[in-house]
Amino acid sequence: MKAETTKEAPKKKGKKVKGPPQIVVNTAFCKGCGICVEFCPKNVLAMKGAKAVVIALDECIECMFCELRCPDFAIAVYPAEG
Ligand code: SF4
Ligand code: SF4
Repeated sequence: MKAETTKEAPKKKGKKVKGPPQIVVNTAFCKGCGICVEFCPKNVLAMKGAKAVVIALDECIECMFCELRCPDFAIAVYPAEG
């Protein structure tokens, strides 16, 4: 039988996260300023046309910078259960 390999990073000790957080962009409010993309330290977000989109959810460290910096309250981060 073929051995299974995984590219998943090992779980950090003491980290309670059970899964990725939820990041919701309210496209009706997003005016495409790109501030959330600029402030995200993990390149989780990108611009797609004039709207912010999530491109690497697994990288999110729940720092909340995107939510805090968005001038239009258009992005919300719901941290994972833990
Ligand atoms: S900071 Fe807010 S308004 Fe600006 S691109 Fe991001 S979600 Fe859209
Ligand atoms: S919470 Fe932090 S890491 Fe996650 S998308 Fe927002 S700015 Fe990026």
